[in-house]
Amino acid sequence: MASPTTYCLTLFVTEPLRPRIGRLGRARVPAGWLVYTGSARRNMDARIARHMRRHKPQRWHLDYLTCDPRVIVIAVTRHAEPECQRNQRNGGRIVVPGLGASDCTAGCGSHLRWLDGT
Ligand SMILES: [Zn+2]
Repeated sequence: MASPTTYCLTLFVTEPLRPRIGRLGRARVPAGWLVYTGSARRNMDARIARHMRRHKPQRWHLDYLTCDPRVIVIAVTRHAEPECQRNQRNGGRIVVPGLGASDCTAGCGSHLRWLDGT
């Protein structure tokens, strides 16, 4: 079995947020359940541990959310499936276009999906 290079973070957002997300600018994140899909070819444990920390330099789009105490990481799963394929299979609705998808060539639109309302 191939070793996992893809991970999903299940997030719970306790109230609607209006974060500024780097170059994406001001975003609207509804309350509820979301799933973020990312990939790490190396050091996945360190990447995931970083996502769980509140205090860190804001480098990735998701950092602007995970620094907020109203965003709770509920679960982490790892997958051998390619990142974009996994993301698209997660379904959900795009609420922040472009988030985590700077390198995406598969037309995902966003690697953050809102699962409520689907
Ligand atoms: Zn993608």
